[in-house]
Amino acid sequence: MIDIITSINKMRYVSEKKRSEGILIGLVPTMGALHEGHLSLVKRASEKTDFVVVSIFVNPTQFAPNEDFTAYPRNIGDDARKIELAGADCIFAPEKSNMYPEGYATYVAVERLTDGLCGHSRPTHFRGVTTVVTKLFNIVYPHVAVFGQKDAQQHAVIKRMVKDLDMPVEIDVGPIVREPDGLAMSSRNSYLSAEERRQTVSLYRSLCLAEELVSSGITGSEDIIRKVRAVIAEQDRAKIDYIEIVDPEEMTPVDDVRGGGLLALAVWFGDARLIDNIVLSGKDS
Ligand code: AMP
Repeated sequence: MIDIITSINKMRYVSEKKRSEGILIGLVPTMGALHEGHLSLVKRASEKTDFVVVSIFVNPTQFAPNEDFTAYPRNIGDDARKIELAGADCIFAPEKSNMYPEGYATYVAVERLTDGLCGHSRPTHFRGVTTVVTKLFNIVYPHVAVFGQKDAQQHAVIKRMVKDLDMPVEIDVGPIVREPDGLAMSSRNSYLSAEERRQTVSLYRSLCLAEELVSSGITGSEDIIRKVRAVIAEQDRAKIDYIEIVDPEEMTPVDDVRGGGLLALAVWFGDARLIDNIVLSGKDS
C-alpha cells in the first residue's frame, strides 16, 4: 500500500533524503476526491521526475466562510488506491491543525493577476492558494510541481509567484481532462443534480463555439463573449459569474484575440460553481 505521510517533519525528512540521493521529486498538489484529471497530472509528474508526491489537503484558507469547505468531498481511502494505480510514490496528507497551528499569521499574496476573474467573486481565494502552495514547496522540496490548465488563473498566479520570489521549482501544466460529453472533470461535479449535470454540457459547447468563431474570422472579444453567453444563458439552471477573454499570463482583458487570448468562465449550476476555459489562438499568434 502506498505510504501516506501526515507529519510535516517526516515528509521533509523523506524529501531531503531523496534529494541527497540525486532523486528528482515531483509534486501534484490536490484537495482530494480525485478523478482522471488529477491522475493525468500524476502521470505527467511520473514522466518528468523519479519520486512523485501527491498532496491531499482541503485548504481552509482558500475558502471564504460562505463557501463549500465543509461540504467538499473527502475520501482518502479511494484516493490512495487511485494514486497508487496511477504510479505515484507517496501521499502527503497533513492535518489542518499542523498546517495552520494556533497563532498562524503569514500569507503569500500575488497582486494584480488575482484581481479579476475568480479573484473578483473570491477575493481571498488566491492568497490561500499561494500560501498553501508555498508551504507545500517548503515541505516537499519538489523539483517539478504539476498543475492543471483547468485552473488557468491559478497556474498563472503560481508561475508568477515562483518567478517573483525566485522559488527553485519548475511549474508544469497539464491539459484539461473532460467527461465524454465535454464537461471538465471536477470534484465539484458531484454536487450536480441530474438536470443540472445535463445542462452543464453548455459550457463546453460554448467554448467550442468560441473556437469556431475565431476560425471563421470573428476575433473581437465582445462579439465572442456575447455569443458564448447566449449559449449558456439558454440553460435555466445556469447563473453566470463571469465570461472573459484575458491575456493568459497577465490575466488582463484583451479586446481582440488575433494575438491570442484565454476565454475563461465561471458558472453556477445549483450548488456547484464550475470553471472552464479554452486558449483561443488568433491569426497573429
Ligand atoms: P483540485 O483538487 O481541484 O484543487 O485540483 C488539483 C489540481 O488538479 C489543480 O492543479 C487542478 O488544475 C487540476 N485539475 C482539476 N481538474 C482537472 C481536470 N479536469 N483536468 C486536468 N487537471 C485538473
